[in-house]
Amino acid sequence: MQNQSVINVQDLEIKNYMEACVGDMLRSVLDGLNACQCDNCVMDILAIALNALPTKYVVTKKGELYTKISNLQNQFDVDIIAAIAKASVIVSRNPRHDR
Ligand SMILES: [Zn+2]
Repeated sequence: MQNQSVINVQDLEIKNYMEACVGDMLRSVLDGLNACQCDNCVMDILAIALNALPTKYVVTKKGELYTKISNLQNQFDVDIIAAIAKASVIVSRNPRHDR
């Protein structure tokens, strides 16, 4: 048995599933808000929203992240929508481009 580091095992990985949840919901929330969805704004909104949300690391088998997320997502839906909405207000006030 080799002495492998915890974050470098072969079949398992650690992921921040909050990141995937926010990514999943981002477009539909922004649609509802009529927010700019250019790459710049979307990535800014994603970063700001993720900074406002708790980090939730989960251990998954590689490639199995999404099954896990759909099971766990509901408990954070409200928080995620609120964080995306707040972030979108911040970005729309100060976008990286002309309106
Ligand atoms: Zn934009």
